[in-house]
Amino acid sequence: MVQIGCFQVKKLKKLKLKKLWPFRRTKPGTAPETITIMAQPTSTDPFRIFNHNTQSNSQANSDTPTPNITQIPVPTVTVNPLPTVTVNPPPTVVPYNITPPTSVSPRLTTKLDLLSPTDHDYETIYTKFMSHIPAATVKGIFRLAMPDSIVNRHELMKKTIPVPRQTFHGTKHQCDPNRYITSKGEAKPCSNNRCGLCGIIKDGNRCDRSNNSIWSATHASTSLYYTLVGAPIRVMFVLDILTLLPENNATPHVIQDAATIPRFLILFQHA
Ligand SMILES: [Zn+2]
Repeated sequence: MVQIGCFQVKKLKKLKLKKLWPFRRTKPGTAPETITIMAQPTSTDPFRIFNHNTQSNSQANSDTPTPNITQIPVPTVTVNPLPTVTVNPPPTVVPYNITPPTSVSPRLTTKLDLLSPTDHDYETIYTKFMSHIPAATVKGIFRLAMPDSIVNRHELMKKTIPVPRQTFHGTKHQCDPNRYITSKGEAKPCSNNRCGLCGIIKDGNRCDRSNNSIWSATHASTSLYYTLVGAPIRVMFVLDILTLLPENNATPHVIQDAATIPRFLILFQHA
């Protein structure tokens, strides 16, 4: 008789268990071979297999034999420690004071900035002017910041003609130009309506004072003839003009005030 777990089997052929377990047939008159297969996992021995006929002699005669225990070693599992994660603390936010934007009042009058000979604009204008009139002696060059109304109308026209052309514009004066130099640009324009120097400083070029068109020249020597001949100091403006006339036009003229804006003023001596 064969015992498998809680079953006792007498007719092996009938149950076809030969194929399931390699046990022997019992000879007549001998004790039946008893095989117990237990699958009773414990906390320490997950699987044990008992063979009652192979147990030790000390226990072979006892009524309750102690099974010979074959232990299947439990593989040792090595758990890698979790990597240490360093969390950077959040950056410290330093509050700062936001300075409210200062209100910019519109420029109503022209600002004259007397340039140093080392100023980049001075060098550019001086070099170009002297290449046209080598006999001149430059007394001062001013950078002009025209009133906002004049700047704005010019900038609006630049949306149509975006690239300005730089030209010279000579004019006559009725006052002493040298006071602009001695005051470093702080002098006030005179009130003489015939003074081209102060009129352009105040209002820019105006067609209604130039026979409805504003003339200028690409060469300073051309504009020299329109200055006050014989005066101790002569005056000449450097303009940006917006025109569609060909670039080889040496004396381009425009018929809109917005097409011109004075950028620099040159005070010079010329015999
Ligand atoms: Zn004047």
